[in-house]
Amino acid sequence: MSASRFYRKIQNSAFSALDWLFPPICLGCGMEGVFICNDCFSKINLLPRDVCNFCGSYTSKQGKCAQCHNRQLPYVGFRAFAFYDGVVRKAIHHLKYQNDLTIGRYLAGFLEMVYQRSTWETDMVIPIPIGEQKMQQRGYNQAERLAKPFSERLNLAYSSDALIRINETSSQVGLNQDERRENVRQAFVARANQVNGKRILLIDDVFTSGATLEAASLELMGAGASQVHCLTLAKVNRLIV
Ligand SMILES: [Zn+2]
Ligand SMILES: [Zn+2]
Repeated sequence: MSASRFYRKIQNSAFSALDWLFPPICLGCGMEGVFICNDCFSKINLLPRDVCNFCGSYTSKQGKCAQCHNRQLPYVGFRAFAFYDGVVRKAIHHLKYQNDLTIGRYLAGFLEMVYQRSTWETDMVIPIPIGEQKMQQRGYNQAERLAKPFSERLNLAYSSDALIRINETSSQVGLNQDERRENVRQAFVARANQVNGKRILLIDDVFTSGATLEAASLELMGAGASQVHCLTLAKVNRLIV
């Protein structure tokens, strides 16, 4: 299905009774009616298909980029919907800070679009958990707000407690790739009774360095998962440290 056809499908299916009372406004241009209007959707910097299967960087052929080539990664594939800029960046900001359930349901449609193009098979969808402190501040986990409606759209099993965060990760801002990896290394605990033998799809809002998804995947594989794929809404184009 083409991106524009899928876009129309998302607009139709995400529209609920509540939207008739409180119609969303386009996060790109302010037009009333939808979160991302047709015009603003056409300007989204979608992730191309021929990117590295592990970090989403440009590569001449499908597979591993030069940076990932010699690395042993605990997940077997990564995909994102778009680069983290423009209206996508605004949408994620809205998802994280506005406590608006409808935006998560809407954005889950874009994750579905990416997933439908893959050949991945999934037994269980798991969102990247946030720490207790962040949970208290924000009141909700933005990755759950994407992962749950996504699992419902695709009729996949979902668990928000098969993976928990035990260490509050300090800010990753200003850290390089190795420092980020060290920072989140032991942040997660997976429940073996839930994940054992399962093909897991991990969902997060943004892929920055990949360190978080890597640490979470490692923990899931250690707890007996048979395979992990990672899917995010956005990918930071270049790691700025
Ligand atoms: Zn617009
Ligand atoms: Zn790569």
